[in-house]
Amino acid sequence: MEKLTIETNSPEETLTLAERLAGLLAPGDVLTLEGDLGAGKTSFTKGLAKGLGIKRVVNSPTFTIIKEYKGRLPLYHMDVYRLEGSDEDLGFEEYFHGEGVTVVEWASLIEEQLPENRLAIEIHHRGEQQRQLTFIPYGDRYITLCKELQKNESTDN
Ligand code: ADP
Ligand code: MG
Repeated sequence: MEKLTIETNSPEETLTLAERLAGLLAPGDVLTLEGDLGAGKTSFTKGLAKGLGIKRVVNSPTFTIIKEYKGRLPLYHMDVYRLEGSDEDLGFEEYFHGEGVTVVEWASLIEEQLPENRLAIEIHHRGEQQRQLTFIPYGDRYITLCKELQKNESTDN
C-alpha cells in the first residue's frame, strides 16, 4: 500500500478516526502530522490521546515543543513549529525509540532528525468542516498499520 486517503466531514469524525488509529498503535511508533494552521493536527492528536486512554486535556504545546502524557502507552506530543530555522537538538531520538508513541506536528521542519520508518499524515482543508487525511507509510510496520486502519474504516462506517 502506497497511501490511504480518508475524508472527514466534522471535527468529531477526525477525532474518531484518530481514536481508531490509537487502538492499533504500539511502543516506538512515530507519526508525523503536516497541514496548514487550522488543518486539524492538534485535533487529530486529541483523538489519539483519547484512544490511548489519556484523560488530561491535550492542546498545542506552543511554548513547550514536547509534552508527555500517560495512557495505555505514553504519548509524546511534539509541535516543532517554533524550531523553524534552528538546528536545536532536543534529544528527539530518545522519544522516537521510547516506550511510547510519538506524534510530531510540523514534522518537515525537523526532516533530517526524523526516523526513516514512520507514518506520515497529511491533512488538507477541503471545506469548513471537510478535511482530507492522507496516510503515507514508510516501512513495513506502517504499511501494516494502514491496512488495519483501512479495514476498520470499511467495517465501522
Ligand atoms: P492545527 O493543529 O492543524 O493547527 P487544530 O486541530 O488546532 O489545527 O484546529 C483545527 C480546527 O478546525 C478546529 O477548530 C476544528 O474544530 C476545526 N475543524 C473543522 N472541521 C474539521 C475536521 N473535519 N477535522 C478536524 N478539525 C476540523
Ligand atoms: Mg496544532
